[in-house]
Amino acid sequence: MLSPEILQSLTSEVGFDDCGIAPAHRLDDDALFMDDWLRQGLHGNMSYLERNRTLRYDPCQLVPGAQTVVVCVLTYAHSGHDYHRAIKSRLYELEARLIEQGYITSSDEQNKFCDSAPFLERRWAVEAGLGFIGRNHQFIHTTLGSYVHLGELVLKEKCVSEKCVNEELTCQLTNLQTYKLKCADCTRCIDACPGHALGQPQWDATKCIAYITHKCTVCQDVCPLNNSNL
Ligand code: SF4
Ligand code: SF4
Repeated sequence: MLSPEILQSLTSEVGFDDCGIAPAHRLDDDALFMDDWLRQGLHGNMSYLERNRTLRYDPCQLVPGAQTVVVCVLTYAHSGHDYHRAIKSRLYELEARLIEQGYITSSDEQNKFCDSAPFLERRWAVEAGLGFIGRNHQFIHTTLGSYVHLGELVLKEKCVSEKCVNEELTCQLTNLQTYKLKCADCTRCIDACPGHALGQPQWDATKCIAYITHKCTVCQDVCPLNNSNL
């Protein structure tokens, strides 16, 4: 039986820094939030985000038969220059080990993602209990901070915990609870943002320098969660 414990151990063996698991389902709240964001035009010239929304909001549409989303985390420090490659090669290795050990039956070419598909990566990292979305609108891992890359493996197998699933889920804080706890009264990212893209409930990509020149990490650099005890 495939369990979160087995996946944790195998992802660590193939070189990821952490992993989390969530049952595959449609992200209804995120669909509403993102539709509203797109309607306001806050995505700027990223028109590709307007397409494939059915697939983007529901991994069961993207990978027919999907049951489990495995979210893998790799820190910037371990990913080198080509993080797509670093993550994809580890995802292939993870899948190979799952097949070798009899937990899944076959390989799938369309179930490994890293910035490469209509897939709400950061939201799935939250669903998998790995962290939260901060006031800077970045995914912040609970212990590793936001200098991390994400990769996902979507499986058609159920992943059943040896512990009671309900018990585990109730132990997990929601994004809002973690956000209130971690960001608290801090506004460093908002104050330091050179484009004034932060500070509203929704991030304004049309003002974000990272999306214009790809050269801004200020809202991560000033974040105390990247620089001290998380
Ligand atoms: S990347 Fe730079 S411009 Fe974009 S939100 Fe962060 S600080 Fe602001
Ligand atoms: S800088 Fe402060 S408010 Fe912004 S994400 Fe980090 S902790 Fe949260």
